[in-house]
Amino acid sequence: MQTNNRFLDPNIPDEMVASIRPHTLSDFIGHEGLKQNLSVFISGAKSRGEAMDHVLLYGPPGLGKTTLAHIVANELGTNFRATSAPMLTKQGDLAAILTSLEPMDVLFIDEIHRLPTAIEEVLYSAMEDFKLDIMLGEGPSAKSVRIDLPPFTLVGATTRTGLLSNPLRDRFGIDLRLSFYSPKDLAKIIVRSANILGTSIDETGAEMLAQSSRGTPRIANRLLKRARDFAAALGRSEISADTIKTTLVQLHIDECGLDEIDREYMCTIIKHYAGGPVGIENLSAALSEPADTIEDVIEPYLMQLGFIQRTPRGRIITDSGYAHLGLEK
Ligand code: ADP
Repeated sequence: MQTNNRFLDPNIPDEMVASIRPHTLSDFIGHEGLKQNLSVFISGAKSRGEAMDHVLLYGPPGLGKTTLAHIVANELGTNFRATSAPMLTKQGDLAAILTSLEPMDVLFIDEIHRLPTAIEEVLYSAMEDFKLDIMLGEGPSAKSVRIDLPPFTLVGATTRTGLLSNPLRDRFGIDLRLSFYSPKDLAKIIVRSANILGTSIDETGAEMLAQSSRGTPRIANRLLKRARDFAAALGRSEISADTIKTTLVQLHIDECGLDEIDREYMCTIIKHYAGGPVGIENLSAALSEPADTIEDVIEPYLMQLGFIQRTPRGRIITDSGYAHLGLEK
């Protein structure tokens, strides 16, 4: 099984991803309320000449957290520095980044729930007072030093707020939650990306693709690129409904956007656990997928569709889940 292929397509060169990525709030499609608030916070910080308050972005992968962090820096007119929690293994790694920031910079930390506690503790005074407290040396001769940092804005992204410690969560002044996109907004994203890629897609094609994109812009863009390949293979100059049909059939994606991994997940619960409840560890072993991937990538959309439920005793398949698979309970 290749769960990550859904999100990381090695065939897409980076510059292509960068050009599709919206650079301003007005290019960012959907989430109107969130954008309005963010625009007020950005203008406020700019007019006061201060660093904007720290922002916590929360939501499943591919919904636009990194994109929004870029946009914040761009709209503030500051530098954007990015890292990811798993890359920060020592306090010194974070210290090196923090001391190289310029005033008002935006520092983006992806997967912030995975920061080791010792590093997280360095962030507390950095976020609150713009001070860096670090220990120099080891053993009895070790001493603590306090270094002034320039004011900066930390943008943290997480797929799970539940895994964030309270002291860290409390230090974010702005909390933004990204939910799955409506098919209407996804269709707009698809048309915008098609224009940037220099290809065209008709309205019905964009709607069909939007329906099958799991509410997720990254998947919509990825499917659009595959549809463009199939259109070329079929000798079509425009991506239309029949090309989308071929694309979805070839990629084994159904009309709700579920792929083989989703179906295998649901069928495993039905066949081996009588429809559930089954605990995440058992499922992880049965599917040979890390529990994190199941919880972050597979389950949120199945829950959104109402095909599964997470209960205190484990996961269960709902009546509509059975109906979707054409199975009797
Ligand atoms: P995350 O950081 O949440 O995993 P990204 O910010 O990397 O997600 O977004 C994935 C891709 O989806 C981006 O490359 C971007 O092109 C596209 N995207 C995300 N949100 C939007 C949006 N609101 N409007 C247009 N494109 C979007």
